[in-house]
Amino acid sequence: MRPVVVAANWKMHTGPDDAGELARTIARRTAEPSVVRVICPPFVSLAAVRDALAVEDPRVAVGAQTIHHELQGAYTGEVSAPMLAGLATWVILGHSERRRDAGETDALVGRKLGRAVEAGLRPILCVGEQLEDRDAGRAESVVDGQLRCALAGHDPAGLEAAGLVIAYEPVWAIGTGRNARGADAAAMAEAIRAAAASAGWPGGAADLPVLYGGSVTSANIAEFLAEPAIDGALVGGASLKADEMAGIVARAGLTAQARLGPESAS
Ligand code: PEP
Repeated sequence: MRPVVVAANWKMHTGPDDAGELARTIARRTAEPSVVRVICPPFVSLAAVRDALAVEDPRVAVGAQTIHHELQGAYTGEVSAPMLAGLATWVILGHSERRRDAGETDALVGRKLGRAVEAGLRPILCVGEQLEDRDAGRAESVVDGQLRCALAGHDPAGLEAAGLVIAYEPVWAIGTGRNARGADAAAMAEAIRAAAASAGWPGGAADLPVLYGGSVTSANIAEFLAEPAIDGALVGGASLKADEMAGIVARAGLTAQARLGPESAS
């Protein structure tokens, strides 16, 4: 059975002075034990969020928003996977804003994936098509290519053991207020599992969690979680608002409890 995950991508918002308080408030407002919750603040705020969550609710995990593909060296401004020891247990990889602004290619994202796994970080690998790809009917082939390239050379069983999660994030839906339709996102989630299965993922990739990301809010999360193929959300803008996170995680809790069955309700 796949977990239900809600991951908050705070992007370049919150510094050490305000991140801890926001993390504490979100943790308090989202205390739903059946949902895996992750907060990904900027690097400089990782320690503040870690410390706040250790007190408020240690079940909420801390994630980074990227890592470098090398372990150390002359890479000004970068942070490597081993440097996150004690600060984060998850990491977002290949976010479309990194692909756009830092020139990250699928191959580079694949190298980062290897570094994350070596360091014991649980990766959220982002894939998603541009609007022109969707309009031209090649959304699935673009995402298939991104996924295959990032997974190439990695042992699928090792990635599965590392808890790899895929986030399907159509680029045209990120930060725009536009959403994919739930049915389209679900079809892509199944295409992602099919691609992973053909790349050797164990068990036909039936256990591979796939999240949806792209202008998710408390008002639209239900459309995505009504789809059995979708296992949660990677949330950007709305994740900076405690009210929004409370609504999103509450809805995710319904899905998680339904998956766990009647015995989970208490
Ligand atoms: C994201 O940052 O991954 C994201 C989906 O952002 P937003 O929810 O703001 O579209």
